[in-house]
Amino acid sequence: MNKFSKLSIVVPCFNEEESVPLFYAETIKQDEFFKSKNVELEFIFVNDGSRDKTVEVVKALHEKDERVHLISFSRNFGKEAAIYAGLEKAKGELVVLMDADLQDPPALLPQMYTHIAEEGYDAVGSRRVNRAGEPPIRSWFARRFYGLMRKISKTEIVDGARDYRMMTRKVVDAILSMKEYNRFSKGIFGWVGFKTKWLEYENINRVAGETKWSFWKLFLYSLDGIMAFSTAPLAIPIVMGILFCIAAFVLLIISIVRAALGFPVFVLVLSCVISFAAGVILGCMGIVAMYISKLYLESKNRPIYLVDEEF
Ligand code: UDP
Ligand code: MG
Repeated sequence: MNKFSKLSIVVPCFNEEESVPLFYAETIKQDEFFKSKNVELEFIFVNDGSRDKTVEVVKALHEKDERVHLISFSRNFGKEAAIYAGLEKAKGELVVLMDADLQDPPALLPQMYTHIAEEGYDAVGSRRVNRAGEPPIRSWFARRFYGLMRKISKTEIVDGARDYRMMTRKVVDAILSMKEYNRFSKGIFGWVGFKTKWLEYENINRVAGETKWSFWKLFLYSLDGIMAFSTAPLAIPIVMGILFCIAAFVLLIISIVRAALGFPVFVLVLSCVISFAAGVILGCMGIVAMYISKLYLESKNRPIYLVDEEF
């Protein structure tokens, strides 16, 4: 019995009328390989509120090929929501997430499959090793973001990782068990763990249309990522509070010394009192923030653990 009889290909689409047919034509070329392994393919296009003819294009594909399915959102909910919906609908024991713009080379699919089916990996992720064709400023911010994330988050978030990844059913179910509203997939993939193989490839430019991510949208998304996987920013008030109290203490010492020497100390004492007051207020805010960080993590309702295997 083949352990993996179906591979679901989940494709979030936002205004991709031009890319979808090209994507399908390119990806279906891998059908032969999967047939030889007795793996059936299933396409799940998730229309994320496109304003172009994406839905019509997918319907036309469905007419020709019954393995093509569609979920169409009532408006644009963002790629993360599209990924979640696609994973929910996917029936395969294997699921792969792919962008519609062919930036995720379908030629890698057989290799991904082999790593899972023959080498026992639970997931195969992909990362691009360069950012050619991307504006330098965007690359610079992206690198800073990953550097910062590595420092402030316990979850492993891989630099250059794309959402292009093949996963077994147990990884998909683990991801679906994280029902948090603010979803940051790169963090979620790291958080769920499991044995993951990383494939590397050079950046490829999109086949048609334009990127859906403006600089501003990416910036907000990176803030989402930081807030979803780190509560480090909530520690800022307590650190500042401690610094202000230290400053107040130093000012107090200077005031005492200067007073003993007979110099006027009114301004110094005033500064000392203000610093101390600020320190106490910030410290109290920091304590509140610590509770908020706990409350925040509780509210996500993440699973307490995930099982890889048991008997
Ligand atoms: N996408 C989506 N909803 C959005 C933005 C993007 O479903 O709000 C899809 C898009 O159609 C594409 C994938 O997510 O299939 C990646 O988007 P894009 O290629 O614009 O991002 P980039 O590759 O430039 O990071
Ligand atoms: Mg793209």
